[in-house]
Amino acid sequence: MRAAADRLRRESSANKSRVFAAGQGQMRTEDFMKLLEEVGAARRGHFELSSGRHSALYIQCALVLQYPKYAEQLGRSLAAEFHDLKIECVASPALGGVILGHEVARAIGCRAIFVERDATGRMALRRGFELKPGETVLAIEDVWTTGGSTFETIRVVEEAGGRVIAVGALIDRSGGRLEFPVRAEALLEMNAESYEPDDCPLCRAGDAPLRPGSRFTRTST
Ligand code: ZN
Repeated sequence: MRAAADRLRRESSANKSRVFAAGQGQMRTEDFMKLLEEVGAARRGHFELSSGRHSALYIQCALVLQYPKYAEQLGRSLAAEFHDLKIECVASPALGGVILGHEVARAIGCRAIFVERDATGRMALRRGFELKPGETVLAIEDVWTTGGSTFETIRVVEEAGGRVIAVGALIDRSGGRLEFPVRAEALLEMNAESYEPDDCPLCRAGDAPLRPGSRFTRTST
């Protein structure tokens, strides 16, 4: 476990190991990494992610965000990355982004709304959430792997008349490779490769993947 923790720490990007949160009650990158390990939110092994892809790293931010104290600190830290922007609303994809988006909005002092799947399975604004024409929006998600949910959130917000001016996440698993059409900030960058099952080196080594995502789904219902 020690070695795995050290490896996780090494792989988190060095250029983010500054104190990203200058204000009171925020969290430093090293402390965030340590926290992820302590609560079991970052695990090493061989996993089948919810996308179906395989990876040696599994991240479950809900295990950190279940503690309101940490959710608040992380929300404040992420909000600080955008202190120079005038943000009128935070939008997040349900379900993973909701708690974090709310905490980021609390720190900014603006509204938090979320997008979710409609009956056809397409992401949409529901529950009477509305955006004013041109309202400036920050799209917030917990983890970027492909960034798919954030791209969908951008689409939904813009279709509703809002204007996404920046996107943010706690963790960028792509190591900074994602290209969003607006400014993007993550508290922690990791180079965590994921593979199609057919093309997974861990499978080829004869190891069977764990499916932590489905286990969480079963136990939470
Ligand atoms: Zn595999």
